[in-house]
Amino acid sequence: MLTISIDLGGTYVKTGILHHGSILEHGRIKVKNNLDFDGLLPDITKEVNRLIEASGKSSTLLDGIAIAFPGLVDSDKMKVTMTHKYPTAVDFDFIAWAQDNWNANVALINDARMAGIGEWQAGAGEGARHMAMITLGTGIGSFAVVDGRRLRGNGYRAGNLFGHISLDINGEVCQCGNLGCAESLASSWSLPELVKKDDDLKPLVAEDDSIINFKWLFDLYRQKQPGAIRVAEYCMKVWGMLSINMIHTFDPQVLVLGGGILNSADVIVPFIKKLVVQYSWLNADEIEIEHAFLGEDASIVGGYYLLKEVLTNKKCLASGKLR
Ligand SMILES: [Zn+2]
Repeated sequence: MLTISIDLGGTYVKTGILHHGSILEHGRIKVKNNLDFDGLLPDITKEVNRLIEASGKSSTLLDGIAIAFPGLVDSDKMKVTMTHKYPTAVDFDFIAWAQDNWNANVALINDARMAGIGEWQAGAGEGARHMAMITLGTGIGSFAVVDGRRLRGNGYRAGNLFGHISLDINGEVCQCGNLGCAESLASSWSLPELVKKDDDLKPLVAEDDSIINFKWLFDLYRQKQPGAIRVAEYCMKVWGMLSINMIHTFDPQVLVLGGGILNSADVIVPFIKKLVVQYSWLNADEIEIEHAFLGEDASIVGGYYLLKEVLTNKKCLASGKLR
């Protein structure tokens, strides 16, 4: 089975082509303007063609394209329903795009869900009947499997919106419109404001604030810079409380922490484990807290399993086995 996975992040679009689930080739497109989906689409189309060529396989062998999108997605109609990142993608016809260009199937899903599927099928949550995952990056995403089934809900929100759980009722209005959301308190998009408010960090970014990111912050944290300790520990406390909310909601046996910020997993994972042991309503031996095994490839691998599921359902529907 030849599949392509595309993960539309806020900063980069990650891509990969897989043969029976093994990645043959990776790719990455820098996003110039993350509001402009129409401007990005030709680059994505070009990238799909490049991946097929690099794989050495014929485009006629392509079974489908799995797309992870930062927003709410109707995974039956394969349509984006709500997003703050690429507004013009709402109602874009992904099925026609894949059909017209490569005569291929398409599977569309929220980005945190696609990464979650990867970790559940072939990563830190492999074989788990109860699993939750938090992805920490430009924003915060989440995913949950309860009793062996991944949650969906009425509007595809179930287990998916923990980045927009309110952790501070006196907090600022988030990009989503809610008050004091987890990702408005501690994510890559909200980090610059935290840094600029800290008296010890502020002078370091006075000339160039484009250096601010979590890698930069955790490097300073390891050097015991007082401002970095303050801001990093505040962020980790937010993620720790969020982890406890996930645990209290879904009762997972494995909680997976993924996303680009987890490049500093050596600091973040032990810190969160400590908070969970201290504050959650469970015994430490009832849960495993793991860094995503697949790292940044979680969504690329997840795309393969998602597409496999979509194609199986399609076959069952056609043969009348699934109603
Ligand atoms: Zn929000």
